[in-house]
Amino acid sequence: ELRTLRGNEKFSATGRVARTIAHEIRNPLTNINLAAAHLAKDVELRQHKDMLQIIQSSSERINQMITDLLDSTRFQELDFSKVNIDTLIDEALDNAQNSLQLKQINVIRDYGEHVCAIWADKEKLKIALLNIIINAIDAMEAGRGELILKTGTVNHRCAISVTDNGAGMEEEALNKLFDPYFTTKTQGIGLGLTNTRNIILNHKGDISVVSKPGVGTTFHLVLDFAKD
Ligand code: ADP
Ligand code: MG
Repeated sequence: ELRTLRGNEKFSATGRVARTIAHEIRNPLTNINLAAAHLAKDVELRQHKDMLQIIQSSSERINQMITDLLDSTRFQELDFSKVNIDTLIDEALDNAQNSLQLKQINVIRDYGEHVCAIWADKEKLKIALLNIIINAIDAMEAGRGELILKTGTVNHRCAISVTDNGAGMEEEALNKLFDPYFTTKTQGIGLGLTNTRNIILNHKGDISVVSKPGVGTTFHLVLDFAKD
């Protein structure tokens, strides 16, 4: 019997295939990353250290692209808990560590006096932060980059900002920034910020961006505190 898949059926079939393929790609990718991290411990030569860092940073990128692709094909069920925002930013920075080091980026953590505990899906929010951080790294020049991560309180909510001194954006790019598949990169997919925005909106949070060509870009996030 011939049957045509429609609407949700078609969507979920595609989603299922995508998830299986993603899983199959992730396993060997994890092995590559772990092996490179393991080798990096014993290697002495600067040049070899750099090469291993390129392997690690590249596999982190592929992993992020897979996450972006997957997250755009499935409904995002959120798993809420109380999350310390400073710790979460530290973890996101940790995931981008190799890319940050490769470009010798100066990371400045300007965390608020009172730590924000927010009500969030920890893993999803980390992905959102990581997307913003990776974009910032891409926009900055090697050896001259400065990344500032700031947390604080605004109107009884938690405010987070991520500032880079990278290329910045023209009005035209700023208008399309969150659109699916908008990218200016040769190896970009253009789904990172689409997913990031969805994640923040699913948290009933706010996301906005201020940018100036040649000066840099700041992403502002505002999220609700955790209820006690
Ligand atoms: P991708 O990173 O795959 O290109 P994104 O959705 O993450 O997709 O970003 C879309 C585009 O927005 C980028 O290609 C880039 O042109 C622009 N962009 C995002 N963040 C920044 C930033 N911090 N500085 C300059 N441009 C940015
Ligand atoms: Mg991106």
